[in-house]
Amino acid sequence: MSAKKANLSGELKKYFGFSTFKGQQEEIIENLLNGKDIFVLMPTGGGKSLCYQLPALISEGTAIVVSPLIALMKNQVDAVNGLSSESGVAHVLNSSLNKTQTKQVFDDITSGRTKLLYVAPESLIKEDYVDFFKDVKISFVAIDEAHCISEWGHDFRPEYRNLKSIIDKIADVPVIALTATATPKVQDDIQKTLGMTNALVFKESFNRANLYYEVRPKVNVDREIVKFINERKGKSGIVYCLSRRKVEEFAQLLQVNGINALPYHAGLDQKVRVANQDKFLMEDADVIVATIAFGMGIDKPDVRFVIHYDFPKSLESYYQETGRAGRDGGEGYCLSFYDPKDIEKLEKFLAQKPVSEREIGLQLLNEVVGYAETSMSRRQYILYYFGEIFDPITGEGAKMCDNASNPPKLKDATEDLKKVLELISVTGEKFKSKDLISVIVGKESAVTKSYKLEQTSFFGFGKEDKDNYWKTILRQATVQNFLQKDIETYGVLKISEKGQLVLKGELEHSFLIAEDREFDLSQTKAE
Ligand code: ADP
Repeated sequence: MSAKKANLSGELKKYFGFSTFKGQQEEIIENLLNGKDIFVLMPTGGGKSLCYQLPALISEGTAIVVSPLIALMKNQVDAVNGLSSESGVAHVLNSSLNKTQTKQVFDDITSGRTKLLYVAPESLIKEDYVDFFKDVKISFVAIDEAHCISEWGHDFRPEYRNLKSIIDKIADVPVIALTATATPKVQDDIQKTLGMTNALVFKESFNRANLYYEVRPKVNVDREIVKFINERKGKSGIVYCLSRRKVEEFAQLLQVNGINALPYHAGLDQKVRVANQDKFLMEDADVIVATIAFGMGIDKPDVRFVIHYDFPKSLESYYQETGRAGRDGGEGYCLSFYDPKDIEKLEKFLAQKPVSEREIGLQLLNEVVGYAETSMSRRQYILYYFGEIFDPITGEGAKMCDNASNPPKLKDATEDLKKVLELISVTGEKFKSKDLISVIVGKESAVTKSYKLEQTSFFGFGKEDKDNYWKTILRQATVQNFLQKDIETYGVLKISEKGQLVLKGELEHSFLIAEDREFDLSQTKAE
């Protein structure tokens, strides 16, 4: 072991009391201290904070930590100040401070006392702050929740967009960007926007092997949820609903059914909200019924189930929200109710938004539909979404979803895969799934007309089968890495290396699929 490594372990023990680093923390810290730009993608709970806190504590000068939420900043600062024997090495700079407090922060930085300064992005852009930072010693800049930079992330914040130019003005120091949600698209966006395409990337698996994923048709949902919770008496759980009204109604319904549940949403009186959250954390309430306002920064390790009464707007949100179950590694049941009509409602809602936001929103919803309706391993689907290839047979947690517990009948679709790959190849890899399906089943559309695809020999070659069948083929060929979704255009399907081998006849690979589930609930009798 090098002297430096031994030293870092010593510092870890001294400040945090831990004997070993978690995952890739040590390598990340070493590289940051050596002046490299770094990009960390680690699921929640992976230990991201330490990757900048420890180097900040042992470096000369102040590390600037950009963080989006004032409420979370305070927790972080308290945590750091609790670590060090000389308290007061971490401070906050944001709009909640008055003049005197702000001056105190600046004095502490100038005197070299502040090791970590948590700043809201909107504060960082202030001219006189930038001027001040130019004249003091900055060790590095950490950008927490870096997905806020991307419109494709689940929490876009326009102020994050300008960070690169501000940092450049302040100092020439290394930058470490961290996030717990990054699809390849978001990752690409973050690196480009921050000018970090050469950064060292540290990515840990997003697989949560102890979580069980199930999607049920949204029929008799109230009764189903009451039954599900009653079978888990005394266990902690969260039920997510989309609207505040639904949260209150459903919390009441659970209470009437003898379940110890409380509501939580941003429209409740602050005191009630905090009290309800505390009761849930302190185990005085078993279940919290909440909008997505609940959960950010809440660390309750023994949440045993997360139920989605309504399906979320993106798979990232789904992953984050379900991820609040089973933090301690124990049981974590993620049950979601799905009705295509809910998706239509969300689509209508998007129709009122500006074009770019609408386009992105629709793409994200498309992924949600794909996930909800799939018959393949849900874990494989989610992990693919985060850019990870997962083996649905041998991968860790492979058995942990409804589709794995009740495997659907598989069909060998190798010949159809080859036909699809040939079509994509001869048409020059420029179409999205929807347009390819039009060609396959022989349905005219604006795109088929403008490229005169009706006149080709392959138009309608698959019309014996339903659209849904071909949709499944394209989705599963993508998830199984025969096709790749282009990052720039998000959606244009290209042939991967593995797909090229199939085309050349160099890869004999049987392509087994299970057709997506049909979710036409209009015929189903609800209560
Ligand atoms: P993230 O920001 O990735 O969600 P945190 O930084 O909050 O994760 O860390 C999650 C938990 O792991 C915290 O309770 C933290 O104290 C703990 N932790 C971090 N690093 C280590 C380590 N090297 N050894 C033991 N526990 C650690």
